[in-house]
Order: sequence, then C-alpha cells, then structure tokens
Amino acid sequence: MRQRRRRAIRSLLILCSLVSAVACQQAGSSESAKPEEMDNPAKYAIVIHGGAGTILREDMSPEKEAEVTAALNAALDIGESVLKAGGSSMDAVERAIMSLEDSPLFNAGKGAVFTHDGKNELDASFMDGATRNAGAVGGVTTVKNPIRAARAVMEKSEHVMLTGRGADVFAREQGLDTVPPDYYFTQARWDALQRALSEENKQSGARSSGPDNKYGTVGCVALDSQGNIAAGTSTGGMTNKRYNRIGDSPLIGAGTYANNATCGVSCTGHGEYFIRYAVAYDVGALMEYKGLGVEAAARYIIDKKLRQAGGSGGLIALDRKGNIAMPFNTPGMYRGYARPGERQVKIYKE
Ligand code: ASP
Repeated sequence: MRQRRRRAIRSLLILCSLVSAVACQQAGSSESAKPEEMDNPAKYAIVIHGGAGTILREDMSPEKEAEVTAALNAALDIGESVLKAGGSSMDAVERAIMSLEDSPLFNAGKGAVFTHDGKNELDASFMDGATRNAGAVGGVTTVKNPIRAARAVMEKSEHVMLTGRGADVFAREQGLDTVPPDYYFTQARWDALQRALSEENKQSGARSSGPDNKYGTVGCVALDSQGNIAAGTSTGGMTNKRYNRIGDSPLIGAGTYANNATCGVSCTGHGEYFIRYAVAYDVGALMEYKGLGVEAAARYIIDKKLRQAGGSGGLIALDRKGNIAMPFNTPGMYRGYARPGERQVKIYKE
C-alpha cells in the first residue's frame, strides 16, 4: 500500500516536471542566440546589462550603437580583469557597475533619469551569494557611485537598506565620493522628462513616464574562481517618478539576488511588476524547488509569468557553473557577457 502511494507520488512529480519543462518551451523565445551551456564549470564568468526597453535597430544611430557597445565592452573588460587575476566576484560586480554608472549613456549614476520635480534620486543594491549578505540604498542624491554605497551598507553597517538623506550621510561618512546635483545631468534625460511632462499635460494630469522612458538601469552578476557569485543593480529609476518612488532595483529579491547554490540575478524593467512578482528571487527558487536550469528558469519568469502579468523588462542570471541567461520581453536589452576565451555584447533581439 505504502509502496503504491510512493509510486503514485513519484509519477506525479515526473508529470509536474514535464509540464513545467513544456511550459518553459512554450513560453516563447525572447532571445534566440543564447550562450552555450557549460559542461564543465567555467573558471569565471561575468554578465552585465544596461537596461531593457524599446530599443530598436531602426531608431538607433550607428554612432550611438558604437558608443553603447564600447561602454558595455569597457565594463566587461574591467570586471573580467578582476576575475582573471583571481579577484572576487564582489569586486568584479562593483567595478563593472561603477564604469556603467560613470557613463552618461545609462540610467544610473551620471545619466540617471529625472524625477517629476526635475531631480535625480538613485537606487542600488548588492548581494553576496556566499553569505547572502546584502546591502542597498534608495533615493540617494549626492553619491557618485550608488553601487559602492550599497556594498558599504552590506559590509559596514548592520542594516540591509538605507534610504534618502540617511543613506547620503552614511555614504559620506564611509568616505565615498559625493557630487553636486548637477553632476547627474544629461540633456537626453532632461528632454525625456519634458516629453513626459507635456504628455501628462495633454492627458490632463494622467501620469506619464512614457514607455521609452522607463528603462536604462545597469546590473552585473559574476562568478569567481572560488565559486562565489555576486550580483548588483543600479538605477535612476523611472522618468517622472514622484513622491520618493522606489522601484525594484534596490530591493533584494525583486531587482537583485545571489545565492551560490543556485544563481545570481539582476533585473531591469517596469519595477512595480518586478517587486510584485519577486522576480530576482523567483529565478533561484524555480531552480531550487523544481530543478530547472538557470536558462529555463529565467526564461519562464520573463516570458511567461511576467509577460502574462503585463510586466515588461528582462534580467541577467548566472549559475555556479557559469551558465548564463539574458532573457527579456522588450524589443531590446543592452547586455553582454564574458567567460574565458568568450565574449558577446548585444543590443537587439536576434
Ligand atoms: N527597474 C527600474 C525601476 O523600476 C527601471 C529600469 O530597470 O530601467 O526603477
């Protein structure tokens, strides 16, 4: 009797995993050219994103395309050199993200989007997959590199998240570089706010952040030669945001997550959905509870769960063998990865 019950449970489990595998396949392909799956663990691996959104080949000038590609390659160079030299995944993530924050091309650090009031409020988070320690800052206004502040919260405070003025004070006390508010200014982001505001006026007060104005966040996940995974995300949030709105990027479990046993994740997209669906955490949870690989898990979340909910965006993820996933359900996502002897940088769906 007991044996029969056990057999029945086993069949049910097999059926469930088959159903979920089929569901993943049917979820639709958000990005066909995907990194090869690794048979043997990679010595190191690093994956980055510079935001997902309505990034279309026909709207992009060759100059802009070259600039973005160069900036993504530069961030990969910096992160990869740390890993090649035997450095930690945490250092690789921090440095790669700092280089994207310093570029005016992305919505993080310099180049952050503007709030409704014409200010810049930045969010970032950082997680260590070995210990599951984490740190985050929300709504900082004077920190040059919010990712450094997030890591400092993790390493130098007893908290996980600091926000607003307190977070700025903490960063200063830690000796991190501070900047005047106009440091973050870029004409392109200012113009995007003006467009969102005039759209809002036309629609008699209906709030607008414009579909093209939501994106541009940066993120990185790395695996080092010790087998440790770290992840981080940094953003200016959404154009025309109000009332100290904070999105998914600084929220551990929503925008960022890392666990050596499963994977590291950094997300980008319409933050409210990523918060509600705990997207970053959910990828590792699918791997842990259902035995899915990182690619199938990440694709299922982005193509199926998030798409059905109406959420747009993408994520990057990497497991302990160095397998990489970069799914997105928007027309494009700035993204790239490097493993020993291998490098790819991409913008559009291919
Ligand atoms: N997820 C970010 C936010 O909602 C925006 C983005 O990824 O571009 O704040």
